[in-house]
Parts: sequence; structure tokens; C-alpha cells
Amino acid sequence: MALPEFRNEPFTDFSAEANQKLMREAIAAVEARMGLELPAVVGGERLHVPDRFESRNPSKKEEVVARAPLGSRELVDRAVDVAWLAFRAWKRVPPEDKAALFLRAAELLRRRKFEAAAWMVLEVGKNWAEADADVAEAIDHLEYFAREILRYAEGKPTTPHPHEVSYYTYEPLGVVAVIPPWNFPLAIPMGMALGAIAAGNTVVLKPSSDAPATVYTFLEVMEQAGLPPGVLNLVPGSGSVVGDLLVTHPRVRMVAFTGSREVGCRIYEQAARVQPGQVWLKRVIAEMGGKNAVVVAEDADLEEAVAAAVTSGYGYQGQKCSAGSRLVVTGPVYDRVVEAFVERVRGLRVGPAKDNYPVGPVINERAYRTILEYIEVGKREGRLLCGGEPADGEGYYIQPTVFADVSPHARIGQEEIFGPVVAVIRARDFDHALEIANATDYGLTGAVFTRDPDRIAKARAEFHCGNLYINRKCTGALVGVHPFGGFNMSGTDAKVGGPDYLLWFLQPKVTSIKYR
Ligand code: NAP
Repeated sequence: MALPEFRNEPFTDFSAEANQKLMREAIAAVEARMGLELPAVVGGERLHVPDRFESRNPSKKEEVVARAPLGSRELVDRAVDVAWLAFRAWKRVPPEDKAALFLRAAELLRRRKFEAAAWMVLEVGKNWAEADADVAEAIDHLEYFAREILRYAEGKPTTPHPHEVSYYTYEPLGVVAVIPPWNFPLAIPMGMALGAIAAGNTVVLKPSSDAPATVYTFLEVMEQAGLPPGVLNLVPGSGSVVGDLLVTHPRVRMVAFTGSREVGCRIYEQAARVQPGQVWLKRVIAEMGGKNAVVVAEDADLEEAVAAAVTSGYGYQGQKCSAGSRLVVTGPVYDRVVEAFVERVRGLRVGPAKDNYPVGPVINERAYRTILEYIEVGKREGRLLCGGEPADGEGYYIQPTVFADVSPHARIGQEEIFGPVVAVIRARDFDHALEIANATDYGLTGAVFTRDPDRIAKARAEFHCGNLYINRKCTGALVGVHPFGGFNMSGTDAKVGGPDYLLWFLQPKVTSIKYR
């Protein structure tokens, strides 16, 4: 089976009126389903329990988007058992059949693109383009993994040896617990769960409590494409209960987590402890936060650099792990860049995601409070140039905020705020800028704006981050083009969307046959 070369799913052109109409209709259709009662799904069976939690529209905080069951130990145990049962058959499904199923699912999701995006607009406050990009990435994962299934099925060559033949093949691990965040509520759960499933594993997925409805579309698409029951199980519930039970479960073989540093470090530690009855060392993917720097050198195209810094800092309200939350500018152009940056940020309008404002709400009450607390810290640590207050509206709106003259060691220069706040830091020169860029515990993304080939070479060699972008924004990684993952406290650098990702979900086996 030879597939055409992988290509990224194109983004929807929302300047076309026909697409605007489709998006509005999709939002209206999803709005008509607000308050959706979601089940847990184990072995294809829909399970409802009396204890439930709500996900709410951050643009309009009184609006309940969905209610989902609060998973329990009983539900987790059942899901893990069912997933092991399903594993027996799924691991033996021929790679061509798995790949074909993934391609069918990609086509089904393509047909539901606007609907899937509309769930995100209403459940996590993404504007249209951000939501559309999330769906496109999810489709990319399906298409990309379809090809990776076939590639990994070929195994690897071994060195010839007299009278023996050796086979180097890959086997799946078993049951994988998938624990995603809310900020890419389709692309991230799908990236992790599909990686596991493509490799022949089965999955128990605990959606983020802020985005259970969006994840449900994933399950429906996979079922419709023909994924056997039990291969993908959904157990919603709180991180501290369902997440914890999955991570410590003796029969969970691997944990694929994306989220905060705090939770990721805890999971890494817990998963390392061998539980009674456990007969393997758990494998862990833990992709965590960032405090990413956009570096602007004096020789850069300043207009381009400033535009990219604004998109990197405030796209999806700064709620991307890849967000450029530090802007590091060299002395000679510092004042000019700061002025142009602030002017653009002042022009960003804030409002409901459904009306497609460039800046929407932050995800929930807790995030809202935390970000406003950081803004108060910033008022002591830097020079407030714009924003610094909540914004009007019925949701969790915060004005896009800029602090200048921030010390590289300040809290707002070191800690992930995960909101529409950028710390601008002055560097003496380019070398100092790189030093500042590297001086955090994280190492996820970074951008450097310079036209000087020596500086580009220096940044490539010395900027210590998993995804470095030269002369472009530091957000918007594309599957296949920008395989994604970070260094240091940004996590395990599994590089989702890249050629090494499936390896995380596989174990190589060598079989040597003596024939004489
Ligand atoms: P989070 O609070 O760490 O939650 C992530 C997931 O972990 C959620 O499903 C959460 O469940 C669950 N969880 C919470 N406590 C747990 C526990 N004790 N045991 C097991 N699971 C637990 O992160 P978030 O707020 O959803 O996401 C934002 C963070 O993710 C940011 O730091 C961002 O930088 C990072 N992120 C990183 C990447 C990357 O690729 N490096 C990509 C996107 C986001 P509940 O929802 O029920 O709490």
C-alpha cells in the first residue's frame, strides 16, 4: 500500500463569505446543543453516572456547554480491563487496515470541520482561525500516522551474520493512559491517543475537565471509521481522581501526558514507582510548559518581527505552550520595537470567541485570577505600557498586557503565566539576548529575528529549545513540518508530528533464526 506524500490540511479561508456563513451555522447548531449530557465510553458502551461536572463557555461564563460523568475507581478499572481485552485483537490488525481506518477517520473529520471547530469556539474560547487550525492539526495527525503505521511495519535491517537471519520489528506496549490539556482540545488528545493506537496499543483517555465535549467528536469519528470497541475508551473526571488512578494503575503500561509542569513532574515521579503486581517500568511522555522568547536583533526586519511577536504573544490569549511570552530586544532598537509592539497590542480587540474577536476570554475562573495576580506582580516588576486590567464582557476577559523593562530574573520573566501578558526585556547585544533567552528552566520554543547569517548560525547552535524558528513566529507548529516538543522543564521532547514519535509507543523486538 503506497500513499501519496503527506501534506498539511489547508486552513479555512474565513475572508470568504461562504465560509463565514458555514462557521456561523455550525456555531448556531452547536449552541442548540448546549448543556449536552456526555457519557463515559468504555468498550463502546455509553455509561452515565449520577456524579457529574460541567464545562462552561469562557466567553459567557453562565453558559453550560456540557455535563460529563465524574469518573471513579470502578470506571477506571473497567476501562483498563476492557482496553486490555481489545488490545489482543487490535495489535494483530494488519498495518494496511489500520492505515485505511485512519484515512477514513481523516475524511470524516474533514466533513465535520466546522462543527468540530464550533465546539472549540464555545467550549474553550478559540476564535475561528485558531479553532480551524486545531481541527486541521487533528486531521494532519490522522493522515501522518496512517503513513507512519506503514513505515514502522517494515522494521529495521540488522547486520548479516553467518547461518542466521535476524528480524528487528516493533511491538506495541499495551494499555496507554492519555491525559491532555484543554488548550488544543482536539489536536493534542488526538495526537497522543492516535500515536498510541497507530502503534497497536489501546487507550484510556481522560479528557481535560474544561473540554470534554470537544474530545467527544474524536471518539465519534473513530467509531464511525470502524475502530473496534475498547480500543479508545473515554473516562472523564477530575485530574486528581481519574488522572491519578490511571497514572498509578498497575495495569497501565504507559502514560502520555501534556499539561503543566507541576502536574507533569508529579506524574513522572508517580509513574516511576512500581506498584504491587506491576511487571514493567512505565513509559511516560510528559510535554509541559514554556517561557518562550522572541529575540529581535537590531538588523532584523522590525515590522515583520513586531507583527510576529504580537501573534506569538497574544494568539489564543497567550494560552499556548509555544506562546512568545518574553520579547527580548537588543539595545539599539529597543525603544522603537517597544513602541511599535505596544501600538499593535493596543489595537487588539477583546470579545466573545463566537464573534471571532482576535482576543477572546481566558479559559476559566482559576486562570483568570492567576493571570490577574501575575499582572499585579508585573506592576511591581516592570513598566506597564498597556492593558493591566480585566476587560468588559460576560466572560473571563483580560486586556492584552505589555510590561517593558522587565529583568530577565523577574517572576514575570521566568514563570509561565499562560495568558495575554508579555514581558519585554532589554538585551545589551545579540549574545546577551541569547543568554537571556536561555536563562529559564524551560526550553520549548523560541524565535529569532535577524538577517545576519552568523547570528542565525549562532542561534541555531546556542538557543537551547526544542523548536527554534528563525524570522517567523514561535507558535503554529505544523505536523510533519515542525515536529513539536521541548527541552528541560518543557518535558520529554517526544516530538509529536515527527518521525520518532511512534517509537515512544513501541518496543523493538529482535528475533534471530539459525537456519544451518
Ligand atoms: P494541567 O492542569 O496540568 O492539566 C492537564 C491534564 O492533567 C488535565 O487533563 C488535568 O485534568 C490532568 N491532571 C490534573 N491533575 C492531575 C493529577 N494529579 N494526575 C493526573 N492528571 C492530572 O494543564 P492545563 O491547564 O490543562 O494545560 C495548560 C498547560 O499545558 C500549560 O502549562 C501549557 O504550557 C501546557 N501545554 C504544553 C504543551 C506541550 O506540547 N509542551 C501543549 C499544550 C499545553 P483536569 O482537567 O481534570 O484538571
